[in-house]
Amino acid sequence: MIETTSTSALVINLTYVLAAALFIFGLKFLGHPSTARKGNMLSAVGMLLAIVVTLFDKNIISFEWIAIAIIAGTIVGFFAARLVAMTAMPELVSLLNGIGGLASVFVAWSTLEAGTYLSGFVMLVTFLALLIGAVTFSGSLVAWAKLSERISGRAVTFKGQVTFNLLLVTTIVFCGYLFVASPEFSPSFSIVLYTLMGLALLFGIMLVLPIGGADMPVVISLLNSYSGLAACAAGFALQNNILIVAGSLVGASGIILTSIMCKAMNRSLSNVLFSGFMPVVESNMVIEGEVKPLSADDAYYVLEAAQSVVVIPGYGMAVAQAQHAMKELQVLLEENGAEVAYAIHPVAGRMPGHMNVLLAEADVSYEQLFEMEEINKRIENFDVALVIGANDVVNPAAREMKGSPIYGMPVINADLAKNVFVLKRGMASGFAGVDNPLFFKPNCRMIFGDAKETLGVMIRQFSD
Ligand code: NDP
Repeated sequence: MIETTSTSALVINLTYVLAAALFIFGLKFLGHPSTARKGNMLSAVGMLLAIVVTLFDKNIISFEWIAIAIIAGTIVGFFAARLVAMTAMPELVSLLNGIGGLASVFVAWSTLEAGTYLSGFVMLVTFLALLIGAVTFSGSLVAWAKLSERISGRAVTFKGQVTFNLLLVTTIVFCGYLFVASPEFSPSFSIVLYTLMGLALLFGIMLVLPIGGADMPVVISLLNSYSGLAACAAGFALQNNILIVAGSLVGASGIILTSIMCKAMNRSLSNVLFSGFMPVVESNMVIEGEVKPLSADDAYYVLEAAQSVVVIPGYGMAVAQAQHAMKELQVLLEENGAEVAYAIHPVAGRMPGHMNVLLAEADVSYEQLFEMEEINKRIENFDVALVIGANDVVNPAAREMKGSPIYGMPVINADLAKNVFVLKRGMASGFAGVDNPLFFKPNCRMIFGDAKETLGVMIRQFSD
């Protein structure tokens, strides 16, 4: 990307500026659900422009491979977006983060293969791109396996983990020094390179394995940020301006989202990140009380008399695809004179904004959605809290039980409403794998079954 004629360099760089502006406006529009589609489209157009203009670079040797990659990528992207179920979207995001990291590894690697002398700075940024890219790749694969329940979502810890991780980091730093300091054409350089890659991949695994349950949203947004930083470092290695800009934007927005997630969960980033470097705290929670099941038919009588209902959706609503049934019930409740509000927890579901997307799909008005802090101020005034497939985000253990792994995480205080109906299939715990004392509280009734079917029974009762 370096030797271009001055006119074509000008055209390329001006188009890069335009593409960067489209990325920034795209991000701005992504900030609200009503403009998010437009934001997505603008960013995609920006990326198309950036790709097309990069193809005019006279240093490109083979267009065949680029064409094959574009066609293959488009086909895979198209079908992935079409076929992946809404509930599997977070897994897809995780995989995409990982592939972004891997792409940066390949780009950085290719600068080493170019066979020309590389300055100390280029070697440093190449090292960073290789390291961050590989950590992002293997870390994202572990996150994907946890999210898709291919491996346990709980924190995986073992004896000597802290020492092992510290040793790993020290070796990586030493390899980094050798990598940057040694001439890239020496035979020992390949050994350093391959060792570094192996250790970086292992580090990604070790970083995500000990992070359990409720902290996964932070990890996913952080890995997203890492994939941007890796691309940015690769951009410096290639001296490609748009890759630097795009990588920085992804890196910065990922960090902002990570910090929002940390705040939402009352956790510090270091606390989440270095859980593998900290001693494990055992929890010994004992829950008292008894579970009181209720049929959907009987729940109807309470709902029919209710003046105000707060709906608290969670991951189970996404699994059951119960958002349309909920909207139907909302209309019936409102026709019956009740106020209906939706309480949205920032980490409900399996990706940021998951509940907002589902409810928008069912045409629930934005004015009826309330953030956790807002609803908590007046939750005791609601006659009924209707918990639809939510578990961790309404777990009062976060407030009441010091030893609980989710202690300190802000939750929606559903247990403070006058009556609580929990719609779920059984007594299974949520993603964090923590028992929920809400289900044992005197004002709580469990309505067991698939959330969509339960709501269907309530709707039929209202219609009759
Ligand atoms: P949870 O994962 O805590 O609980 C979901 C509940 O839904 C389960 O207990 C399950 O119980 C129930 N459920 C599943 N299928 C159905 C169904 N068909 N009908 C009715 N209920 C069903 O969800 P929350 O939304 O409360 O919390 C989200 C969790 O995920 C948090 O721990 C969060 O940290 C984590 N997370 C969030 C991410 C994000 O970005 N938002 C990303 C990654 C993780 P049962 O099986 O008994 O029915």
